[in-house]
Amino acid sequence: MRSQNLIGASRVFVCDEGFCVIKDGGVLYESIERDETSGHKKHSQGAKILAVGKYEDLVREYPSAEREFWHDSVLLPSLVNAHIHFEFSNNTTSFVYGDFGRWLDSVIAKRDDVLSDITKSVQEAIALQFANGVGLVGAISSYGYDMETLSGSGLRVVYFSEAMGSNPGAIDALFSDFKARLGQSIAHKSELFTPAVALHSPYSLHHIYAKYVLQEAKNLKTPISAHFLESTYEREWLMNGSGYFYDFFSRTFKVPNPKPFYSIEGFLEQFVDFDNVLLTHCLFAGKSEYKIMAQNAYNIVTCPRSNRLLNNTYLSFLHMQGRKDSDFVPNIALGTDGRSSNADVSLLEEMRSMLFACPQVELDSLAQQILKMATCNGAQALGVKSGILKDGYNADIAVFEIPHITHSCQEALQFILHAKEAKRLLINGKGII
Ligand SMILES: [Zn+2]
Repeated sequence: MRSQNLIGASRVFVCDEGFCVIKDGGVLYESIERDETSGHKKHSQGAKILAVGKYEDLVREYPSAEREFWHDSVLLPSLVNAHIHFEFSNNTTSFVYGDFGRWLDSVIAKRDDVLSDITKSVQEAIALQFANGVGLVGAISSYGYDMETLSGSGLRVVYFSEAMGSNPGAIDALFSDFKARLGQSIAHKSELFTPAVALHSPYSLHHIYAKYVLQEAKNLKTPISAHFLESTYEREWLMNGSGYFYDFFSRTFKVPNPKPFYSIEGFLEQFVDFDNVLLTHCLFAGKSEYKIMAQNAYNIVTCPRSNRLLNNTYLSFLHMQGRKDSDFVPNIALGTDGRSSNADVSLLEEMRSMLFACPQVELDSLAQQILKMATCNGAQALGVKSGILKDGYNADIAVFEIPHITHSCQEALQFILHAKEAKRLLINGKGII
């Protein structure tokens, strides 16, 4: 059964292009009663936002709607963590930071310990998403170990089954394992769970294997994710076939005379026929690569804390600011990455870190950009109609208490500084908190 509900707060962030803030605003939305969702997981039509405006006006227009109003609070679309690896949620101190090569060596040496018995830590990571007001995630899954837990969690998930493997002799076995995982994710498909495909990275994936995987993705019309130009080592390897990755393949994997599988452009060109392409990190992309990304409407996902820990730098955000020329400005979303390269998977902490990591950008404008990256940009990248408070969009809504927010004219900035825990979270019109 569905009903009309009205939720309001002292400040409403619409998270549209112009970052509109409504004072004493409200959102009318459909809510789905529990009896419709339980037992009918695959109901066809999600709960939508019906109207957005001044709370008082909506009360007058829809007097029979059930209603709630949050004082000293900000209401906004639930947040979007566009790149997270739940499977690595056990990690605290196992991996080495400060250099991408030392980190990768430590992951290969210790990942089996980190990946054992993950159910509890995945559940905790999901609970942390809810506490952070996150309603939608782009979950990268290397093994499928997190699939059951995520699919029944109530979180909206775009679930990327990831392909990785460079040994040409193992492609058939790798591809059959990948297809089995993808098939399982398709069996879990629902209003809240969207199967998708990830290519791990240009250095870790044989180009023939990638071709097979992309054909599957094309048949299913899924979003595509890949890690891209995360380290200087990766750039050096793709451009010159030398450096850390030459040693990595020749010493660690005993490949005689190893060569890269792609040029930088060749890797990017694989995705031109896809609608939702998410390239994560892109720290060492240059202007020509940004141009290819922007012209093909590829999306960048940035994970600032992971970038600082593994590669000692941040996405060069500055040169993209203020450029009206859309040729050079890809859509940028925000992610936490996994606990394999972060202290935790808190998107609120990620937003705060990013605020302090970009001192070159004017503060109020940066705060609004970060909020858009964590809402509308992330949802757009993932191909989900959430992330904006607008009629026809998913009823995915979060409320945070921000004491004395009505005293400020810098609402976006104060939100990022003070948002601690969601007081209310709706996903698909259903109260999670
Ligand atoms: Zn990642």
